[in-house]
Amino acid sequence: MASKLLRAVILGPPGSGKGTVCQRIAASFGLQHLSSGHFLRENIRTDTELGILAKQYIQQGLLIPDHVITRLMMTELESRRVQPWLLDGFPRTLTQAEALDTICQPDLVISLNIPFETLKDRLSRRWIHPSSGRVYNLEFNPPQVQGVDDITGEPLIQREDDKPEAVAAKLRQYKEVAKPVIELYKTRGILHSFSGTETNKIWPYVYSLFSNKMASIGVKTA
Ligand code: AMP
Repeated sequence: MASKLLRAVILGPPGSGKGTVCQRIAASFGLQHLSSGHFLRENIRTDTELGILAKQYIQQGLLIPDHVITRLMMTELESRRVQPWLLDGFPRTLTQAEALDTICQPDLVISLNIPFETLKDRLSRRWIHPSSGRVYNLEFNPPQVQGVDDITGEPLIQREDDKPEAVAAKLRQYKEVAKPVIELYKTRGILHSFSGTETNKIWPYVYSLFSNKMASIGVKTA
């Protein structure tokens, strides 16, 4: 059987564990993890024209305009025509999905469905010490005393952006924008949705989907 390159897309709201799942897919199946957020941050770090523009949107919690992000991602994808990849963070809108189709239709799309309450909890766990910028996460690195900075003993605050109401608004926006993208891939019969509250429980199903898909297109995996 002739082997073919696998091109996959991962969809999921902020806090869905997308980053972890992407790393595991990339490590297990040799797909290049292409994250639009990563490319944008690289452009911001190196002060490119695109980075300067992108920064203004990201700081306001807004999506980058479709034509800007599409141009960036098309350039990255064009230079990887002969590599298997996993796209993360792109396409985020229907216009972006249609643009992607013009250069390559994905073979497989996975969508992570995590309950709204779980996402809200995960995303609201970040607290900061404003004068030093120290960041705590109530799950991974909690302060020694709740609500208080370890070094100075001063109170911790939640950024406006991390407060439950702001997080809920962000998640609602994601859902609205992602809906037509999910519908498009569902209609095409390439969408696979995974539901649950824990990444470790979802992972075996994602693994088996990719293993089967790789086998069906003739790619041997370890
Ligand atoms: P991420 O790391 O995927 O959460 O992306 C960080 C930020 O970059 C997002 O909050 C958006 O402002 C912007 N961004 C990333 N990907 C896209 C995209 N496909 N369309 C529009 N904006 C994007």
